[in-house]
Amino acid sequence: SRTYFIGGNWKCNLNRKEVIDLCKGLASTDTSKVEVLVAPVALHLALASELLSKTKIHVSSQNVSATQKGAYTGEIAPDQLVDYDIKWSIIGHSERRSIYHETDAVVQAKVKNALKHGLSVKFFIFIIVCLGETKAERDAKKVQEVCLGQLKAIVGGIEKNQWDQVVIAYEPVWAIGTGDVCGAKEAQEVCQLLRFAKILYYVCSNINFLKDNVSGPVANATRILYGGSVKADNALELIQQPDIDGFLVGGASLKVDSFGGIIKAC
Ligand code: 13P
Repeated sequence: SRTYFIGGNWKCNLNRKEVIDLCKGLASTDTSKVEVLVAPVALHLALASELLSKTKIHVSSQNVSATQKGAYTGEIAPDQLVDYDIKWSIIGHSERRSIYHETDAVVQAKVKNALKHGLSVKFFIFIIVCLGETKAERDAKKVQEVCLGQLKAIVGGIEKNQWDQVVIAYEPVWAIGTGDVCGAKEAQEVCQLLRFAKILYYVCSNINFLKDNVSGPVANATRILYGGSVKADNALELIQQPDIDGFLVGGASLKVDSFGGIIKAC
């Protein structure tokens, strides 16, 4: 009974005119049966948010600072996103990890900062946190080890009452932008592992969580997405897997037809 979730990660693509055209197309796409999100570059967030304001489509940043406001040149703090009504951010995408050297510790700090709320910090956002193995790691049969290691760092940044703000995205690095989509069975295997491992880490690290006996419901309620060369014609088989709750889409999210086709498949 998890609502399917389809995110379009536009990465560093599109100019202003293309953003306007794409948003107009999406505004007249039927998104009533699924939750849909688009992530433009920071410069286009306000524009996309305005253009999609009459729709239920979420607008998300592609990254967020591990700090609050202050002397951090080039960063965007969570409360600055919220101030512009941007309530979502992607964290820990493989391109951030590999090209910009974001370690598990950085990803965890960003997760914590984005979810932080309470007496002093009133703002928090929803997040899609990404993880996944490289080709070399898959060939070396280290998929479980790598993905669980990354998950452990992510889980370490999330309080038990914050899980409804979190979506996890399994994006095998070798499948991103290559046309080499992960087989549905293999993707299901990892997504299932992530769902149940989440309970395991709580069992190991948080006695109260176990005692409260809410680990099962939390694991069951959390959306786990697949990402990597998703297209309208491979989406159907993937979405039929029990532990795949939607997609994070790169290339195919840049055109109304292909993104709309994926939404329709779900
Ligand atoms: P592609 O869909 O272009 O493979 O990209 C996937 C991705 O990185 C989404 O975050």
